[in-house]
Amino acid sequence: MRQSTYLVPTLREAPAEAEAVSHKLMLRAGFIRQLAAGIYTYLPLGWRVLRKVETIVREEMDRAGAQEILMPAMQPAELWQESGRYQVYGPELIRLKDRHDREFALGPTHEEVVTTLVRNEVRSYRKLPINLYQIQTKFRDERRPRFGLLRGREFLMKDAYSFDLDWEGLDRSYWAMYDAYNRIFTRCCLNFRAVEADAGAIGGEGGTHEFMVLADIGEDTIATCTNCDYAANLEKAEAAPGRQEYQEVTVSKYEKFHTPAIRTIEQLTESLGIEPQQLIKTLIYLADGQPVAVVVRGDHEVNEIKVKNYLGADHVELADAETTQKVTGAPVGFAGPVGLTIPILVDQEVAAMLFGISGANERDYHLKNVRPGRDFPLEKTGDFRNVVEGDRCPRCEGTLKFYRGIEVGHVFKLGTKYSEILGAKYLDANGQEQVMIMGCYGIGISRVLSAIVEQHHDENGMIWPLPVAPFHVHLIPVSVKDETQMKLAEELYGRLRSAGVEVLLDDRDERPGVKFKDADLIGIPIRLTVGKGAAEGRVEYKERKTGKQQELTVDDACTRIVELVKASV
Ligand code: ATP
Ligand code: MG
Repeated sequence: MRQSTYLVPTLREAPAEAEAVSHKLMLRAGFIRQLAAGIYTYLPLGWRVLRKVETIVREEMDRAGAQEILMPAMQPAELWQESGRYQVYGPELIRLKDRHDREFALGPTHEEVVTTLVRNEVRSYRKLPINLYQIQTKFRDERRPRFGLLRGREFLMKDAYSFDLDWEGLDRSYWAMYDAYNRIFTRCCLNFRAVEADAGAIGGEGGTHEFMVLADIGEDTIATCTNCDYAANLEKAEAAPGRQEYQEVTVSKYEKFHTPAIRTIEQLTESLGIEPQQLIKTLIYLADGQPVAVVVRGDHEVNEIKVKNYLGADHVELADAETTQKVTGAPVGFAGPVGLTIPILVDQEVAAMLFGISGANERDYHLKNVRPGRDFPLEKTGDFRNVVEGDRCPRCEGTLKFYRGIEVGHVFKLGTKYSEILGAKYLDANGQEQVMIMGCYGIGISRVLSAIVEQHHDENGMIWPLPVAPFHVHLIPVSVKDETQMKLAEELYGRLRSAGVEVLLDDRDERPGVKFKDADLIGIPIRLTVGKGAAEGRVEYKERKTGKQQELTVDDACTRIVELVKASV
């Protein structure tokens, strides 16, 4: 491609609204342009990278035996009503009407469409298992679209759906996708982890994994073991229970003491000169409208997902001040487990305490020498807290460390959630009707672009790894007015291209400084500069990543490049 007529509108400064490095660089390097919040045009360079990632995804999905299809973005509302998601999905679902006033939605995901398709087309066990995928534009009216392609409202996703005869079959389909995802993200040169995630009521053990690219801009917290390969997102992460030496102690009866105007853990620890782990913290929640108390140590936070799963509730939220007052008889800040008549969920770390300080359920009072098990019941003990860094790994002797992650992919065991409700059934070998067992598997293809840039850049711009680079080689004649240079550049351009190398030829009549700056910003991995050495058939070879520079003969440069490109696919 010739840069003089190619649409690469580079900018010296990034627009002020761009926060994430990847967003700034993609705007500056002319890869994308925003049309509306969370809605982008891919310019030629951005589109080329998108296609490369798409190709990798497609190759690995095909290799795993999935079949590509393309489903409509526009979907009748009835379908969503049938699955019950028309209301549940909420404002993220973009709704519209046609000229006959019929309601439609723009697909944020395709469980409904694909399940109906398979329901109608697949009836016999002989046709199963089947895994259908597509690469398609998705629409989600995100509350906070941001960070460029990382969280868009219109974005490109690969979504796949597997249909199996039974749960063992689903297991095979699931792990085949898991393996394919590992290959995909490895080929995209990403530093990532597959982490256990919360599957809610369905899925069971290993029911869902998220593929997380490690990056500070990531919106998710993941806990990984420093010793083994345990990794889970914060919602799901568990810790081995704290070790406690058995102690034969007698704890005297709990005692009320005056704590005027002290409402927070910080105020309490400060005024008493104690550590937060000596405190028993009590929070009142509403689980499907019913009040429950959740008790964790003062230095821990309640994990609402764990509470929700334990209770089998649909919805869990912190109770308002009024409810708390009604349930505890005291304003917020003085709740404690002693004497409560609502269910009390006790975190295992609290159950292991010998005694602690808690609220007294009375304004301006706390209790000391509160003994779990003696002073409040431990029937509902479990893991109800978020892990913290330094906690012990649930699998080995290692400790947990936190990272921030960008979720680029997600594999999920759906079970019969959609096949049941939408009637996707097959006839087994005995002619009996059975419900298909489903899995779904997504990759945010456009999000992957940003994730790659988050991990591959420096202060001068992007640094594309060869397998996903928009072009393999940036060929730069220092002066287009110099005939010798231009002749050699043209010769190289033809020769490399006929060997299957993708070349961007900077044939612009610009100062060398401008060309080199743009080249660094765009981040094509190999730069060939045709300058003074042109007369002797020599060119300058430079790696964008290391900055290593070397003068080579044209032949040597071509041989090296062709080898590198071959090895990269
Ligand atoms: P998130 O927690 O980031 O909102 P999600 O759980 O809603 O993601 P899924 O429904 O599992 O995501 O979608 C599959 C994949 O699509 C995600 O793993 C992610 O890579 C991508 N994705 C989801 N939402 C967006 C978005 N708004 N912009 C770009 N990619 C997205
Ligand atoms: Mg989402």
